[in-house]
Amino acid sequence: MPLTQLFCSQEYHGYYLRGQTEEFLDYIHSDNFPENYAHAYYVLTFFVLIRNTYAKQYNKEIGYADSLGYFEGKTAIEFIKIREKHLRNFIKDKNLLKDQSEKRELDPFVEEINIKDINIVESPYLLRSIKNKADIIFLRMNVALDRIELPSNDSIVEFPKHIYQLPAYHLSKASPHHEGEISEQIDWTPGIFSDKFSFNLADTENYSTKLCDIGDIAWEWIEKKSLSERSVKLLNTLYGELKDKADPYKEYYFSFLHDLTSDLKDHKFVGQCSYCENFFKYASTKKFCSLLADGKNCGKSVRNKRHYIKNKEKILPKVRDSNRKLKAFYKEKGIIK
Ligand SMILES: [Zn+2]
Repeated sequence: MPLTQLFCSQEYHGYYLRGQTEEFLDYIHSDNFPENYAHAYYVLTFFVLIRNTYAKQYNKEIGYADSLGYFEGKTAIEFIKIREKHLRNFIKDKNLLKDQSEKRELDPFVEEINIKDINIVESPYLLRSIKNKADIIFLRMNVALDRIELPSNDSIVEFPKHIYQLPAYHLSKASPHHEGEISEQIDWTPGIFSDKFSFNLADTENYSTKLCDIGDIAWEWIEKKSLSERSVKLLNTLYGELKDKADPYKEYYFSFLHDLTSDLKDHKFVGQCSYCENFFKYASTKKFCSLLADGKNCGKSVRNKRHYIKNKEKILPKVRDSNRKLKAFYKEKGIIK
């Protein structure tokens, strides 16, 4: 599937919404496949908000209308016009488009979407970007595994559709697939990733190292079907740092982590505390962190909370009463007026 350009007719705080979707091919290595590997087709989707100033500023510098990470045209019609202009220049130079198949290959794929389907979250990051009048605002990105095919006959095989093997294969130093394999146009190793999304979209907070950490843990899980204590600890640190999904990068990296932790839970390797979301070694009876193993007693915290909610009517007057007394005391001492 070639790059699809997404357009939206509704505006958002003076911005227009643009998106792109592209399929890319990678591999899954497993003894479950006859040839020990299969083709994995992923779909990358991402959305940005763009102001008119973006087009003015960047149009001249960009050679191609349909490159990933570059957004030309506010509407599909506008985009097709710009693209045809680019193609005419291109054809002049290269004498291409003689045969029909190549022509079809260059047909633009455009799609209209509704802004409601995107479910834009007004995060502080987004509001700050709008206030700063950024030309382009990175809104959301996600990767999904569409299908897995056997390399011998292209038949689709049933296999868990995870995405965590991507950082595991390509970002973990321990992985033999560490270099090379991933499609160059969507090479999403952190450095090149930032290049592709250069126009104000670079990961300024540099969370991308966290994706490498996720890759390390995921590779260990794939290889050993087990995790060291150190890795579980790192898993908790990463989860704590990314779970607020406060900006699109965090949200994107969190999606890989969430995919991994879901698999760890499904395999009953880890359990997750129902109170603080901490991960620990799975035990069928364990629902909360324990003081002995995890250094905190979340079960007790929950019971206290439940006790509070159940006895709110009884507790609150006491609290109010003591607050009143404290206030009176402060007043007496001249601390408050
Ligand atoms: Zn806990």
